Amino acid sequence: MSVMKSAFNPFEMAQAQFDKCADILGLDAASRELLRYPLREYHFAIPVRMDDGSHKVFRGFRVQHNDARGPSKGGIRFHPQETVDTVRALAMWMTWKCSVVDIPLGGAKGGVICDPHNLSLREQEAICRGWVRQVAKNVGPTIDVPAPDVMTNPQHMLWMLDEFEVIHGSKNPGFITGKPVGMGGSLGRTEATGYGAVYTLREAMKVLGMDPHQCTASVQGFGNVSQYAIRAYMAMGGKVIACSSWDQHEQTSFTFKKASGVDPDELVSVTDRFGGVDKAKAKDLGYEVLPGDAWIEQDVDILIPAALENQVTGETVKKIGPKVKIVVEGANGPTTPEADQELQRRGIFNIPDFLCNAGGVTCSYFEQVQCNTNYFWTQQETLEKLDQKMTAAFHAVHALAKKEKLYMRDAAYVISVSRVAKACHERGWV
Ligand code: NAD
Repeated sequence: MSVMKSAFNPFEMAQAQFDKCADILGLDAASRELLRYPLREYHFAIPVRMDDGSHKVFRGFRVQHNDARGPSKGGIRFHPQETVDTVRALAMWMTWKCSVVDIPLGGAKGGVICDPHNLSLREQEAICRGWVRQVAKNVGPTIDVPAPDVMTNPQHMLWMLDEFEVIHGSKNPGFITGKPVGMGGSLGRTEATGYGAVYTLREAMKVLGMDPHQCTASVQGFGNVSQYAIRAYMAMGGKVIACSSWDQHEQTSFTFKKASGVDPDELVSVTDRFGGVDKAKAKDLGYEVLPGDAWIEQDVDILIPAALENQVTGETVKKIGPKVKIVVEGANGPTTPEADQELQRRGIFNIPDFLCNAGGVTCSYFEQVQCNTNYFWTQQETLEKLDQKMTAAFHAVHALAKKEKLYMRDAAYVISVSRVAKACHERGWV
């Protein structure tokens, strides 16, 4: 494992969130003990012959948190500071995410401690194939289905699939998702998370009696999730007046504002492949360039944090304007518990991350279904099915929140955890 120690331990945070929900549910001691920890963990070495002829040993792992509802599902991250506790937390969150949208999958996550920036493509391929060789018997379409995550991409998934198929001597395209379209990937996957977030926003606006034509939004980030969220919100008749992005050159973030409305096509033309907007070119296009955190203090009805974790904090929450009615959590973990309390106190409606951004894993599940049946759907068919899933999940959570007077995040946890606990119970595990 990484030797880096940090005060913030995501696994402890995930366990604390679970404990709170277990208390609300009055969960029995054995179920708590089972669900507070992963079911299984694989830790292994991946020896690789490097391009210069030397040998290097990378550390890899796969954590399967719970598979009572179906095969485990979750990404594989390549990161130099990866820790097993991060992977454990993410595996647990995947269990709740799959459960809240009611797809028949459990939760897992994997990783390799490495930095792809310093590795040739051949070395990366060797790591991918080595990862699969170590867990080939413990993953697969009916056991555990990996996907891309931080610093892994469709090409990595294809190398992993190829190795898995060589080992098993058969074609198993449902082993892994996030593959390139045409090689087993699903149409609609690129748009799925941003569109899915806005499907839940659309439903929230209905229950709150808000008209998108009259409501403006401000977004943090201009990457995959935010770009498609902006497009989907505009397609509903809404206007996005600001979005922000990270400036790699200046090592800080900036907010790009246009009161008449951000134009995603125009902004994409001046954005790099990491979602970084070129400041000077944006100015030429008529955007006001503001400090990075300006996105949160805009006089808008909707805030969409869709960049990274830990952004709406005890400090920044104070900057949220009086008009804001909804926070749409496109990113994972954007809101701290302290900020949650303030949002709750102000009566700001929250669409919690593991519900809001579940469109990605839902479409990955669709990819797996298409691969297993060897029949591929059109983009429209995929997005319609995604809309149905996200809409149903939103209303299930909202109905419970209303009935039990719960904060939306707590209601989402209650639904997810109770479904998983029920599956464990019905299987006779606890
Ligand atoms: P991405 O890398 O495509 O885009 C990230 C964007 O955030 C970029 O525009 C970047 O410039 C910006 N950014 C980074 N640091 C910033 C900062 N300090 N201030 C302002 N902007 C900043 O990533 P993505 O795939 O869009 O993912 C965004 C979030 O959504 C992450 O939390 C991710 O875990 C979560 N998520 C993504 C998916 C998916 O399918 N892509 C699914 C579920 C959850």
